[in-house]
Amino acid sequence: MAKASKQQATKAETYKNYIGGKWVKPQSGEWMENRNPADTRELIGLFPASDAEDVEQAVKAAGEAWPKWKATPAPKRAEILYRLGQILMDRKEEFSTDMTREMGKVLKETRGDVQEAIDMTFYTAGEGRRLQGYTTPSELRNKMAMCVRQPIGICGLITPWNFPMAIPSWKMMPALICGNTVVIKPAEDTPLSTINLVKAAEAAGVPSGVINIVTGYGEPAGSPLAAHPGVRLVSFTGSTDTGRIVSTIAAQHDKICSLEMGGKNVIMIMEDADIDLAVDGTIWGAFGTSGQRCTASSRIVIHKKVYKKFVEKLTKRAKALRIGNGMDKQVDMGPVINEKAVNKILGYIDIGKKADGAKLHHGGKRLTGGDYKHGYFIEPTIFTDVDPNMRIAQEEIFGPVLSIIPCKNLDEAIEIGNGVKYGLSSSIYTQDVNRAFTAMERMNTGIFYVNASTIGAEVHLPFGGTKATGNGHREGAMASSLDIFSEWKSIYVDYSGKLQKAQIDNQ
Ligand code: ADP
Repeated sequence: MAKASKQQATKAETYKNYIGGKWVKPQSGEWMENRNPADTRELIGLFPASDAEDVEQAVKAAGEAWPKWKATPAPKRAEILYRLGQILMDRKEEFSTDMTREMGKVLKETRGDVQEAIDMTFYTAGEGRRLQGYTTPSELRNKMAMCVRQPIGICGLITPWNFPMAIPSWKMMPALICGNTVVIKPAEDTPLSTINLVKAAEAAGVPSGVINIVTGYGEPAGSPLAAHPGVRLVSFTGSTDTGRIVSTIAAQHDKICSLEMGGKNVIMIMEDADIDLAVDGTIWGAFGTSGQRCTASSRIVIHKKVYKKFVEKLTKRAKALRIGNGMDKQVDMGPVINEKAVNKILGYIDIGKKADGAKLHHGGKRLTGGDYKHGYFIEPTIFTDVDPNMRIAQEEIFGPVLSIIPCKNLDEAIEIGNGVKYGLSSSIYTQDVNRAFTAMERMNTGIFYVNASTIGAEVHLPFGGTKATGNGHREGAMASSLDIFSEWKSIYVDYSGKLQKAQIDNQ
């Protein structure tokens, strides 16, 4: 995304930051362009290239709004979220279209993204009448013990471009229901979808200052948000490298920090698998969203006995994939997000071919000319005979590149599957219940599927991963996301009328 000149800023539609209930220009007067990755001639709009000064204003507004929002009963907060869910439903088509234009993924996938935000909003609203703590017996007589969830304060949310409405909703909804206020810094490539979410929240009646959005680049806008002393919690989703920077900043200020980062997800296909089903799952998992999901299936580990048959069928299907502008109903796979992503993905394809010495079986090129001339299109790419230690089998590529690794049995498949630094999602295709349960138990990932691809998370189950994928938190699912966005307070009520000492008086 390029910086825009002042002249352009007067021509294209210009969007603003939302701070303290007002849509305001960036203090610096700097804007950034948002262009359609399928056709960069289309300028979606100009968005604030915000900096620390805008973040300062947003945090101030969030701080001013907090006492009143915190004191609003949770069922009342929930009523606003129900209205927000309804607005998102009513405007689903419009928001999906905007998202395809700015992000590139096909319309049926952007509809899924908006739907996920709707699901998350309604699901979280239901929590307004729960937000449960618990009571528990005290070890002493005439003493009561209980714990309740407390709001945390101002939450700084830093989000990526691949799910530009769903991921902000995973963070924003639980933050709000718990009684926090937020400042969100969406990805520079997809600010419109997050602005759409915030506009819907404004229309639903979220009070001024409870949600603030500051668009801009990572370092000038994201870093000051992570570092701001007024921000008590930082919730980040993005690459592992950036997550490490963000958590380092947060650690210096003793902040609560939840990180959702990379993946190198594996589908294991056993010799007894339904191969057609496994091919379906692989096409969807590896090439859906052009491979740009943290849960994308980037590795196939397959039993030697069915390797050839699977590769043949998969290749036929990959060749048939229609690549193009996601607005076209006939298209299966859209562009990748930007030029930097093209270079990174082509760089990995080169590494696969040369340094790694894997066999480039299908694809491998950027599509240029004709309808592809002004976009960032890469062929669905399949490497075969991949060794598990090759870089293409170890590192997150975040593009439509699949590595197929042969194996001799389930034990070896599990060893290869677990043999990466990430631990987000994994799956197995098998008809054998014992194999399925063995893999379920032994795969060290936060998400596991049987006879399905590595993607397809639902909002009411914990989402997140082990190892370098995260720092132990889970989003989605009530208990886990409330655990991020609230703090426990333990309360002891002694009605004995005398001094009672825990651990001492009851011995
Ligand atoms: P990707 O490499 O996939 O674009 P990133 O992890 O770099 O993803 O970006 C995820 C989010 O983190 C985006 O909103 C981005 O602007 C933000 N970001 C990038 N660099 C920094 C940084 N140094 N400090 C804070 N936020 C950052």
